[in-house]
Amino acid sequence: MTTKAWAATSPSLIEPVTIQRRAPDDDDISIQILFAGICHSDIHSSRSEWVKTTYPLVPGHEISGIVSAIGANVGRFKVGDRVGVGCMVNSCRSCESCKEGEEQYCLKGATWTYNARDPKHAGKITQGGYSQHIVVDQAFVLRIPDSVPLDLAAPLLCAGITVYSPLKRWGICQGKKVGVIGLGGLGHMAVKLAKALGAQVTVFSQTLGKKELGLKMGADHYYATSDTSVLKPLRRSFDFIINTVSAKIPLTLYLTLLRRDGTLVEVGMPVEPLSVVPFALSAQRVSLTGSSIGGIRETQEMLDFCGAKQVFPEIETIPASYINEAYERVLKSQVKFRFVIDVSTMGTPSRM
Ligand code: NAP
Ligand code: ZN
Ligand code: ZN
Repeated sequence: MTTKAWAATSPSLIEPVTIQRRAPDDDDISIQILFAGICHSDIHSSRSEWVKTTYPLVPGHEISGIVSAIGANVGRFKVGDRVGVGCMVNSCRSCESCKEGEEQYCLKGATWTYNARDPKHAGKITQGGYSQHIVVDQAFVLRIPDSVPLDLAAPLLCAGITVYSPLKRWGICQGKKVGVIGLGGLGHMAVKLAKALGAQVTVFSQTLGKKELGLKMGADHYYATSDTSVLKPLRRSFDFIINTVSAKIPLTLYLTLLRRDGTLVEVGMPVEPLSVVPFALSAQRVSLTGSSIGGIRETQEMLDFCGAKQVFPEIETIPASYINEAYERVLKSQVKFRFVIDVSTMGTPSRM
């Protein structure tokens, strides 16, 4: 099937292209995409900042839409169902991580939604959600609850699960003091989800520019990190801090804000290595760790949780023609708080 898409054709340009999607195999679901969120990872990848990017690259791993066709073995979904796809479209399914529902840590390497070789389909490079259709194995398709609007569902598939998973793993609940560094796509979901889990939440942002919005979405306290002296009184007061920043920041400073045995989890993936002063780890036996998205089972749990609690992202819906400008605004931290592409603005492919 030919489908319209927008692709990075070089590190500096996203433009319209036409791509081929496979016909659904027996286990596949064909999805008409309606919305695709813009994650900062799309920008890192479009610009070949992590691994070498194969151009043209269709980014997008925050995908929501409607089932348009199913393979013979598909029992869990039917045509017309509301579904989502996140950062993975397959994994080995037999390693220790896959068996435990942590497919993102597949020991053979999960098949990422874009810019990855797909071992099950002749090593073809995967292409993501800035497109009108995608074909995905049913095991990697999520059900979107009726209580979650499809445009608001899209950012949950990466930003939502990436912060939900560590919040759950480190037992965030009422009485816990949580810090969130960076109030962008991931950061604002971390504020909302930590709050929904009952925690007291503090935002660390570069400026006070988004303070009012941050407090409105549930943060209890808000600090600008441009003047680090304001953080001194907060030393040794947090149980858990999540760093969502896409650039290198001084982690040592934040480690000193943790209580004894507290945890700082790194989810931001800057290109530059981070550094820490070892004393900041040993002084209060704090942990510095990281976390990658979440498994399929946990992603479904998060979608159901957001539906039940009505926890949704703040989005700005844009036409496909605005993607390049949207990237520039994300890079300047001028997104409030996730851009979501209305995929219907890509036009109808001339031939399907
Ligand atoms: P985003 O919307 O651009 O948010 C990042 C925020 O970081 C910005 O809004 C800004 O917050 C802050 N920031 C940016 N540059 C900064 C700088 N130089 N110094 C201090 N703060 C800065 O990006 P996102 O989509 O949330 O993604 C954030 C990072 O997470 C990216 O690196 C992305 O690749 C990564 N990621 C990781 C996973 C995973 O599985 N671990 C999943 C998805 C994304 P303020 O304006 O509030 O300062
Ligand atoms: Zn992402
Ligand atoms: Zn595996």
